[in-house]
Amino acid sequence: MAFDIEMIKKVYDNLDAKVNAARKVVNKPLTLTEKILYAHLWDGEASTAYERGKSYVDFAPDRVAMQDATAQMALLQFMQAGRPQVAVPSTVHCDHLIQAKEGADKDLATANNQNKEVYEFLSSVSNKYGIGFWKPGAGIIHQVVLENYAFPGGMMIGTDSHTVNAGGLGMVAIGVGGADACDVMAGLAWELKFPKLIGVKLTGKLSGWTSAKDVILKVAGILTVKGGTGAIVEYFGEGANSLSCTGKGTICNMGAEIGATTSIFGYDTKMADYLRGTGRADVAAMADKVAAHLTGDAEVYANPEQYFDQVIEINLSELEPHINGPFTPDLAWPLSKFAAAVKEAGWPAKLEVGLIGSCTNSSYEDITRAASIAQQAVDKNLVAKSEFTITPGSEQVRYTVERDGYLKIFENMGGVVLANACGPCIGQWARHGAEKQEKNSIITSFNRNFAKRADGNPNTHSFVASPEIVTAMAIAGDLTFNPATDTLTNSKGEQVKLDEPKGIELPIKGFAVEDAGYQAPAEDGSKVQVLVSETSDRLQLLEPFKAWEGTDLSGLKLLIKAKGKCTTDHISMAGPWLKFRGHLDNISNNMLIGAINFFNEKADSVKNQLTGEYGSVPATQRAYKAANIGSIVVGDENYGEGSSREHAAMEPRHLGVRAILVKSFARIHETNLKKQGMLALTFANPADYDKIQEDDTIDIIGLTSFAANKPLSIVLNHADGSKDEISVNHTYNEQQIEWFKAGGALNIIRASVK
Ligand code: SF4
Repeated sequence: MAFDIEMIKKVYDNLDAKVNAARKVVNKPLTLTEKILYAHLWDGEASTAYERGKSYVDFAPDRVAMQDATAQMALLQFMQAGRPQVAVPSTVHCDHLIQAKEGADKDLATANNQNKEVYEFLSSVSNKYGIGFWKPGAGIIHQVVLENYAFPGGMMIGTDSHTVNAGGLGMVAIGVGGADACDVMAGLAWELKFPKLIGVKLTGKLSGWTSAKDVILKVAGILTVKGGTGAIVEYFGEGANSLSCTGKGTICNMGAEIGATTSIFGYDTKMADYLRGTGRADVAAMADKVAAHLTGDAEVYANPEQYFDQVIEINLSELEPHINGPFTPDLAWPLSKFAAAVKEAGWPAKLEVGLIGSCTNSSYEDITRAASIAQQAVDKNLVAKSEFTITPGSEQVRYTVERDGYLKIFENMGGVVLANACGPCIGQWARHGAEKQEKNSIITSFNRNFAKRADGNPNTHSFVASPEIVTAMAIAGDLTFNPATDTLTNSKGEQVKLDEPKGIELPIKGFAVEDAGYQAPAEDGSKVQVLVSETSDRLQLLEPFKAWEGTDLSGLKLLIKAKGKCTTDHISMAGPWLKFRGHLDNISNNMLIGAINFFNEKADSVKNQLTGEYGSVPATQRAYKAANIGSIVVGDENYGEGSSREHAAMEPRHLGVRAILVKSFARIHETNLKKQGMLALTFANPADYDKIQEDDTIDIIGLTSFAANKPLSIVLNHADGSKDEISVNHTYNEQQIEWFKAGGALNIIRASVK
């Protein structure tokens, strides 16, 4: 199931009929994005046109990819579905838990030791359920997916925000939470609001120091970190066709930084070359036959303003290299203006570390272009002034660039090769001295540069640029250096200038690898045992949640009336808690500890109605649970906004909260609550929020005739003996009401599988 040529064939066989059906209902020429979306409707061929930015649509993705941190809860939940195998080809990638400290070999050995139980669980659960497993050291999820699984015209979801990288190979690839991944693997539809469309027309051709990275650095400056929200960005034009496939991947990858749902390029010869270069000539041959459906219609690209909601045009011939930052990826500086910006803002000009690689920029082309700069350091008697690290994106790329002598070039310049993993990009960097929190500058070819992301130091000024610019800056050790115009003094006292980078798109001798780090799943996993120790504090098998008892709910205690913003981070905090993300009971000790109690304006301090004492939210809820008393959480507007983390819905369910009653919900969180069998309710009259008192005991009335579009009632039994009855709304449809009755969506799937 991990790599399924039959699946791709099926997508292509049906493409013509599906695109033509879409053409009829949309009734105008189609963008590439529309073709792929309409070709992946859960209900088959399109029968209606969807409104961009408004319609919620069920889709049927072709693939699921999961990284090791988020895969844990997704797979623990999937096990609840009772299926013998995943419903669509899926893979797990061990990349996020490896800390960069001393170099690839030692760091990998340490990670294998420290994360042994997590890796054993992921390996065994993958083996059992038909999931491809990429071991620690095999590479970073998005690079491995691009090299092995992405295909033009496909649709993929992945439990990581940079899943969008696969748009470089013509795929609608979207980052989601673990609950969505679980659903798709379990055979359910995946819902997405039909996106708005932003068209980016690329003209001209890159040259000199400018690379594909500079396209997205420029776009980030134009659209800012919010400008792509709710939209898919579609790149087209002669400039797009001139970019390498991996360069396209870099652009799509960093599209996550503008908040875009995803980004995509149409199928072209560069993609075909990459498919062939990575051992997938069969996919290229199939794609060639349906090529017309793997790009937007000519009328669309001729008059983009008529078909996209927004159009941006960039001339690659005029595009300058960019450096973005610090602290945000949308603060875009053309190279010629950067030195002045550094001086004016007083950012530390001395560059401490240059870091290249990551899932964003570790292609063969990236490495060879950066190496062409590194080689000059040696040839021109320059000594690199900054520390320098290289993070290969996959073992295949690492092996190939080592074979071709490029890693040696970096080492000659003083570089350290890190494991094929996320490392410093996700804060897995044991950076010496970071704890002193000194003001300093680093520059990376990664995608994100928010404060503390790389090394935990809020005073690290992190900048983002292409690998070749990072390499040049690391040689100079000075952020005010402009490699396109300035000279450097070498060890002989001579003034030398760096020549423009030169790279090779695909290895002339082809890619090679000795052990890619892949474990294929068992043909028949029925006898495979999933490895989870009962004494583990990081992993815990889930128990199915109980079905609804069939009556109205009475005698519920108010757990907390949250005031103001209550995001999924307030409900289930990240940081140190993430190590428990595979252990529902342990991570539940962070439940709502960030929410502010309306009655005392404090975080993590609520009244235990059984004792009258104040205590932490999880401890209070555990006391109610022990006494077999249900509870209710009350919240304000847009409750549950933020990341789609499923723990924010699972924790209250696990600890015995029965309902969440708020002024309004963030939609994804509301859906997550429904999937877990919780009641997600809204005040019919938002002012009724004020009627909730600290000592209330609460009844929920009307559940025995629970129906779509029919409000429920809530009785607030106040401590003084008075009562208020209020009306509450919900958005459950008939199917979701069945989820509630069964105690959760997975309970229904399990019942249907047996
Ligand atoms: S390298 Fe960075 S951006 Fe890429 S998957 Fe890892 S943490 Fe995410």
